[in-house]
Amino acid sequence: MQIDVLTLFPAMFSAYLGESILQRAQKAGLIRLNVHNLRDYGEGRHRVTDEPPYGGGGGMVLKPQPIYDAVDAIVKESAGARPKVILLSPQGRLFDHATATQLSKDPWLLFVCGRYEGVDERVREHLVDDELSIGDFVLTGGELAALVVIDAVARHVPGVLGDEHAAQRDSYANGLLEGPHYTRPETFRSWSVPEVLRSGHAGRIERWRREQALRRTWERRPELLLTADLSEADRQFLMTLAREMVDTME
Ligand code: SAM
Repeated sequence: MQIDVLTLFPAMFSAYLGESILQRAQKAGLIRLNVHNLRDYGEGRHRVTDEPPYGGGGGMVLKPQPIYDAVDAIVKESAGARPKVILLSPQGRLFDHATATQLSKDPWLLFVCGRYEGVDERVREHLVDDELSIGDFVLTGGELAALVVIDAVARHVPGVLGDEHAAQRDSYANGLLEGPHYTRPETFRSWSVPEVLRSGHAGRIERWRREQALRRTWERRPELLLTADLSEADRQFLMTLAREMVDTME
């Protein structure tokens, strides 16, 4: 998969993308990451990339020309292929697990990071294929948002996580939150690891993990249960939780 990023602050990407899993994925050739400095496409001696907004109101807006020129230059180097152009924006559709898995199947993504008051509307209207927000809050720029999306997408590219099934066990993958994890020591400050996890009984451990996932989802994100794929045993367990709740209310 190829990922290109268009930003005024390329240095923000090297620290995060140059470490750990994402660094290994690049070294292994699973992901090709190119970060482009929007400033290089600014016009004139001062490489201008932003101007005050029409109509006044303060702040600056990223000009359309450097963004269009950058995308044209990036596309020109590919033999006729075109990336999916994604604008990071607090006004975009909310990024989630389903979108991460879906985007991981795209061969080429290009992220446009906004700054200041945002980008000229003609970029959004005529260049961008998708607009993503990472939450209902406003960041100073699209760089952190792009990193969040790239990280979450990369986890679903085959081979990026050492264990092929790791992402399938994570929260949201099967519609539920994942249950708790424990590691050594067996007892820490008098708190012990649940007996079942030390039992070595694969069937009991699997059932316990499923029930913990159901309990956690019930307690924290009950709306996920409406769309999760539930077995008869899962439904029975949820009935137990419902009864538990009624009992505590009495
Ligand atoms: N004036 C814009 C508004 O009110 O919608 C906010 C602009 S924000 C200060 C600058 C840039 O940060 C945006 O163009 C976008 O690229 C990025 N950004 C801010 N919040 C974001 C979010 N929640 N998700 C994705 N990108 C975000």
